[in-house]
Amino acid sequence: MSFVVAIDGPAGAGKGTITKMVGEKLGLVNIDTGATFRCVALNMLQENIHMDEEEKIKKILEKIDIQMEHDGKVYLNGEEVTKRIRENDVNDLVSPVSVLPIVRNKLLEVQRKIAEGKNVIMEGRDIGTVVFPDADVKIYLDATPEERAKRRVLQNKEKGIECSYEEVLQGIKDRDKRDSTREIAPLKRAKDAIYVDTTNLSIKQVVEKIIEIIENK
Ligand code: C5P
Repeated sequence: MSFVVAIDGPAGAGKGTITKMVGEKLGLVNIDTGATFRCVALNMLQENIHMDEEEKIKKILEKIDIQMEHDGKVYLNGEEVTKRIRENDVNDLVSPVSVLPIVRNKLLEVQRKIAEGKNVIMEGRDIGTVVFPDADVKIYLDATPEERAKRRVLQNKEKGIECSYEEVLQGIKDRDKRDSTREIAPLKRAKDAIYVDTTNLSIKQVVEKIIEIIENK
């Protein structure tokens, strides 16, 4: 029997940071499903495959190997790509790629397999609605687009990536729109998910709140 905590929400809501911290505190394996979509986008860039080349996409999906280590490192076909999948070219391609039914079907299988037999905290957009509709705990993390853009700019600065607030805000709004209006597995709060608005909360406060929710289960 495995225990599944599903954390969904838009880009920049703090899912990555929070999931990692809660997972470490409670001994749950942390699974970042966004990284699996990023791996497909990167593989397409590496092979110079475009969005409309469905047959070629199908081919790379047949042989794609995505591994996630406990330390957060991500491997695509044996190569470590942890940092590479966060770069701008992948950011731009990942959202359109994640709309493709062949990609979602394949990754649904990959994501369920990664979680098999483990106690996990899994973050994404459709974990509580599609990947694990029977998850033990479902949380929907949110914050205003402005707050999320502010966080992203800070995060990028720490990594030495220069960017403007306006540009990041527009990117977030575009991604929200694409992720929540797509036909398959849109970003949507599950009916039974607990809504947590992190706009005015510190990381520590959000972590405490989520641990409390999980422990009350
Ligand atoms: O969470 P992250 O920003 O890494 O996700 C990248 C993109 O992957 C999202 O913008 C979304 O389009 C897609 N995604 C998804 N379903 C998930 C996780 C991510 O469609 N469960």
